[in-house]
Amino acid sequence: MGGRGSGRRSSYSGKAETNDSMPLDIRKITRKGLLVPGNGFSWQWLVNDRQVAGISIRVDFESMVLSYRMKSTGEVVEQRVQTQTSPCHLGGQRHWFTCPRCSKRVAVLYAPGRYFACRQCGGLGYATQNEGAGDRASTKTDKLRKRMGWEAGILNGDGAKPKGMHWKTYHRLKGRHDALVQVSLHYIGRKLGFLHKLLER
Ligand SMILES: [Zn+2]
Repeated sequence: MGGRGSGRRSSYSGKAETNDSMPLDIRKITRKGLLVPGNGFSWQWLVNDRQVAGISIRVDFESMVLSYRMKSTGEVVEQRVQTQTSPCHLGGQRHWFTCPRCSKRVAVLYAPGRYFACRQCGGLGYATQNEGAGDRASTKTDKLRKRMGWEAGILNGDGAKPKGMHWKTYHRLKGRHDALVQVSLHYIGRKLGFLHKLLER
């Protein structure tokens, strides 16, 4: 299962760095029925049932406000993100974020730093400066997650044992996964200032 508030698994492959940068998927929010103007709720990222990050979301008409409190200063960081819709093939409509930086229509935003942006905009800022053990741990973790049919990115939470996989195999993979998660968490904390602060909370 993904973080509290996540629904079906979505297939996703991308840079390990972005997977660890609090993926905020508007499809998951929509499926939870939370995308209603005037609605306010909290969104959390769990690792091993422990919250490692969380934000508050307030839904307005065609935008939402993402906010979190920095532990160090108590400062509340607020970011308004525009949303848009497109007609669905089978009727109804699909919801999208408008990337606050490049205005591209995207389903998922990431927060590699202080603010949320699309994968390209968010990834550019730090992908070059983090070619180290943390990234390798993330890549290995995602490989294991793929074998277990789990969504990439530890912040998307753990899934269940895949059907047909022996328990012994599952426990072995899960054990390796969990050890790598600890390594990743360490680097995520160092990489993302405010996430680190949330970890300390
Ligand atoms: Zn962008």
